[in-house]
Amino acid sequence: MSNKGKLRIYYGCMFAGKTSALIQYISERNLKSNEFIVFKPAVDVRAGKSVIATHDGKTHECIVFENEMELFDFITPFTKLIAIDEAQFFNKVILSDIKRIIGKGIEVVAAGLDKDYLGRPFGLIPALMELADENIQLQASCALCGGQAEYTYRKVDNKVLVLIGHSDHYEPRCEKCFKEKQ
Ligand SMILES: [Zn+2]
Repeated sequence: MSNKGKLRIYYGCMFAGKTSALIQYISERNLKSNEFIVFKPAVDVRAGKSVIATHDGKTHECIVFENEMELFDFITPFTKLIAIDEAQFFNKVILSDIKRIIGKGIEVVAAGLDKDYLGRPFGLIPALMELADENIQLQASCALCGGQAEYTYRKVDNKVLVLIGHSDHYEPRCEKCFKEKQ
């Protein structure tokens, strides 16, 4: 039997409460401040440089992760939990770091968009989901019909993939509304 750390993923469209679920999970684990580390990608500047924030204003201190950094460099002998927000924006090279971290018995929890605004698999999330012990899907309400939304629809005509989320640029949509009303 191994004492592998667990990997848990919260995935879904925008406004599904992924960051809230991540913050909630960290709180429930009741760890000391030196026992967990929260990361977010440098591309997500929505909350400023050192916090993750939910759309309803809850925040948590975090490390802003640049692509040239290595996750493993932040681990200390006290680390019990690594939390990663907006994980779709992380470079795939951190997968090997995550495997190493889990191998050390440290738990990893990540949240992110599983699909981009075109409905395509988004960045690191599909690979993380394959590796995960637990994948938890979160849903928002479709902006058009109120049904269960799994897609993020972009309301502005902007071809740049990384456009950080605000409600004026994106809305959650169910599969039917997403595909019918592009
Ligand atoms: Zn709908």
